[in-house]
Amino acid sequence: PLVSAASSIKALPQAIVDKIAAGEIVQRPSSIVKEMIENSLDADATSIEVTCEGGGLSRIKVSDDGKGMSPADLEMAAVRFATSKLATFTDLKSIRTFGFRGEALASASMVSHLSIATRQREGGGALAYQAEYEDGRLAPGSLKPTAGQPGTTVTVADLFYNMPSRLRAFKRDSEEYNSTLRVLQRYAVHRAGSGVGFVCRKKAGANVDLNTKSLSPVSDLARLRKAGQEPPFPAAAASAARKAAIGHVFGGALAKELVGVAGGEGDVAATSLAALEALRSDTFKGAGPGDEAGSAFDFCYSCSGLVTNAGYVAKAASAAFVVFVNDRLVESPGIRKAVEAVYHDLLPTRGKPFVYLSLEVPGPHVDVNVHPTKKEVKLLHEDRLYGALALLVRTVLSSGTSTRSFDVAS
Ligand code: ADP
Ligand code: MG
Repeated sequence: PLVSAASSIKALPQAIVDKIAAGEIVQRPSSIVKEMIENSLDADATSIEVTCEGGGLSRIKVSDDGKGMSPADLEMAAVRFATSKLATFTDLKSIRTFGFRGEALASASMVSHLSIATRQREGGGALAYQAEYEDGRLAPGSLKPTAGQPGTTVTVADLFYNMPSRLRAFKRDSEEYNSTLRVLQRYAVHRAGSGVGFVCRKKAGANVDLNTKSLSPVSDLARLRKAGQEPPFPAAAASAARKAAIGHVFGGALAKELVGVAGGEGDVAATSLAALEALRSDTFKGAGPGDEAGSAFDFCYSCSGLVTNAGYVAKAASAAFVVFVNDRLVESPGIRKAVEAVYHDLLPTRGKPFVYLSLEVPGPHVDVNVHPTKKEVKLLHEDRLYGALALLVRTVLSSGTSTRSFDVAS
């Protein structure tokens, strides 16, 4: 009697499941742009140009001068969970690269019309190739040779064309464009230090809203890279390039008020290696500080950044709190609260500062799976980290303040 007529509860077809999952990852045009520029950076690009028509809902185009893809890569590029970056946990970089693990292009192809044109920088001959995708696979017959420069151009057209209710929820194109511009501005600041220039405009031929490519310290580093010199560049050179990019984006007056932050605790490289060992031997899972996985969980971090001094109140438009963890732009309300509290103590007006911080922690100390778009991260030892960062910033700011008041007094 328990076996009755067919249940009225039916499993959703896989295609719909995939589309729902993709729609969760791709929340808005800027989430696509972020993933695409991460791919360009992973491909060692020194120049990344973005156009965003109709706020990115009509067409997003991301062009880079990175290493490009082979025709065989093009066939696999938009297959879900296909990645060239995480085959094994054998190198540090694979753990550091916390992209979508082969989901970004696949997701984009499920909620838009995706096409890619690419030419390999090395070993691929003089031809470029282009391809179109539908629902996570190459559109049959669409892979064709074409002309083009080395590098990759990804085009995402008609975003959410197949999710009309989602599309209707977007209010203004300008809001979406600004969200993308904000992401690109922040990456432009961060990556200026490794010689990557960014350009953003509404469409081909339109005025640029961001262009760090030709900023002198940035383009100098880009030239060094093209000549074969690899980052990290000397801290002073990286910092000068970032300052120039901050000046370009947030204003020259603000850039003059920046002070450098640099510090850390423990040995990030050694702890990363220990974590890698623990991951390989499977002691990492379910283990915690003090367990047999041992030093894999030791508290450690390094931090560099540029922040406005304690006497400067940033205008509302240029106040910003920018945090990168292992080279990825993240939101960390905890870090923000801790650092802003330092400014609240020092800035009598409770004005807002400009803060840019770049943190390095062992990859396994970062949990990116708390948020579908991996925007908010959870960090091991977060309270200790917040305290350490607050102290670091306080130290830099109070030394700056005492010099300044001395100047005034004398
Ligand atoms: P993931 O970045 O996690 O590997 P993606 O879906 O973002 O997954 O990309 C899939 C694969 O396509 C990448 O692993 C990479 O090999 C290739 N790829 C994507 N974008 C680029 C690019 N701009 N330049 C070179 N290769 C790229
Ligand atoms: Mg990716």
